[in-house]
Amino acid sequence: MSYNIIIDRERCIGCGVCAARCKNFEMKDDGKAYAKELEVKEIGCNREAADNCPVDAIMVNKK
Ligand code: SF4
Repeated sequence: MSYNIIIDRERCIGCGVCAARCKNFEMKDDGKAYAKELEVKEIGCNREAADNCPVDAIMVNKK
């Protein structure tokens, strides 16, 4: 099984919580969050990042 990581950058407010909680996320110069890997085998900290995003901009979907 694998998971798709989707970030709604219209919604992202650039708080940095996801990057602080999970190394799969990084903040770019535009002030928005990006996922380094868009498809992961293990959900790991991606779930924690999604659960802690204050504006629910991160979706983790089972493939
Ligand atoms: S936690 Fe959510 S709002 Fe904050 S930077 Fe990450 S995606 Fe954007």
